[in-house]
Amino acid sequence: MGITAIRGFNDILPSEVGKWQFVEKTAREVFEGFGFAEIRIPILERTELFSRGIGEATDIVEKEMYTFTDKGGGSLTLRPEATASMARAYLEHQLYAFDPVAKLYCFGPMFRYERPQKGRYRQFYQIDAEVFGVGNPVVDAEVILMLIHFLRRVGLEKLELQINSLGCRDCRPRYREGLKAFLTEKSFQLCEDCQRRLQTNPLRIFDCKVQTCQEAIADAPKVSDFLCGECDTHFDKVKECLSMANLDYVLNPRMVRGLDYYTRTAFEVVSYDLGSQNAVTGGGRYDNLFQEIGGLDIPGIGFAIGMERLISLLPKDKEFIRYPDLFIAAPGKGTHGEAYRLANQLHLEGIHTEFDYEGKSLKSQMRRADKLKARYVLILGEEEMKKGRAVLRNMADKSQEELPIDNLTGILKNKIGKD
Ligand code: ATP
Ligand code: MG
Repeated sequence: MGITAIRGFNDILPSEVGKWQFVEKTAREVFEGFGFAEIRIPILERTELFSRGIGEATDIVEKEMYTFTDKGGGSLTLRPEATASMARAYLEHQLYAFDPVAKLYCFGPMFRYERPQKGRYRQFYQIDAEVFGVGNPVVDAEVILMLIHFLRRVGLEKLELQINSLGCRDCRPRYREGLKAFLTEKSFQLCEDCQRRLQTNPLRIFDCKVQTCQEAIADAPKVSDFLCGECDTHFDKVKECLSMANLDYVLNPRMVRGLDYYTRTAFEVVSYDLGSQNAVTGGGRYDNLFQEIGGLDIPGIGFAIGMERLISLLPKDKEFIRYPDLFIAAPGKGTHGEAYRLANQLHLEGIHTEFDYEGKSLKSQMRRADKLKARYVLILGEEEMKKGRAVLRNMADKSQEELPIDNLTGILKNKIGKD
């Protein structure tokens, strides 16, 4: 074979793309119904946006970023996530000047240098939604509600919403110290990476997949026991609002999320169908991110959905491919031009019409109509056409009817366009 794609970078082929379009269309409908507006941001940013925004001691910044020096000598990074870029855009264009509350969403590829495997790629797509400018817990619940509503709308079942509170600048350091003290006594059980994490970011040990690390952390203190009064009240209100919206949730005190910028509410939606890569989406509140990247004190909350993982969970029985509405079979020389003319007219009416470009035999044209799964075939036989008639065949029930050639476009539009 000649040149192939890079490992971890995928083509999304026409046979798959219907699912992607369906998911994106549904996301737009749902999000815009909740008052979110699309924003499109660059794929490349200054490296410091991510190292400062996401945090130096995170998996992403430590080892997963595609960073390079461009010809001008600056350090640039292919975005590993979208929140930091969206926050940058909000600050840079002073979107808060119009209204401090911004509800934004975006779609697009993210890049992380990870070991490719099922559900884990180096270029993968996310759907992101963020609310900037509201610290009130009501919005936490609203964002989660929108997320769950969207996932149900695309047909996902067996979902579990897990929530936790990670505390704030006041109470999290106390938890961190408590956790560190607890784990220091068990440090002999920790893997090499976690020995290091113990010093730099002990919360990340929760995410480690190594068995002995999981054992070490099994009885670790819970963040909920360390929350300050304000964080406690915030979290109670989030739970109350979720219950008011009839949303079931599971408290997961071990869910800490990999990014430094999260504060207070953190959530993940896991699917029982995904095996080990079971997080479809994650998100949370990040009231310190803006200060990290721009100095303003603006709260934020949002989520990112992994497209590939979401798509792998779509209902298997749903049809996403658009098959031709009509195939025009025109075997005779004299009818070929008519097929071309009619197809053009039907295309303008939005009716997906195919016909044979090569003038093959009727049998071979019918075979192709079958292969393409056309719903109807219009047979333009030379003899029938002379009599001013054509035959329309319904491929599902094989029934046939004769139609007059005059005003075929109108008749077909009515017949085929409707169902
Ligand atoms: P994980 O724990 O699986 O590495 P994460 O915490 O790094 O996930 P986030 O940064 O929260 O993931 O990204 C949100 C979502 O993006 C994830 O829930 C997942 O669906 C998806 N995602 C993250 N990394 C990848 C990847 N390398 N390939 C495909 N999808 C990914
Ligand atoms: Mg990750």
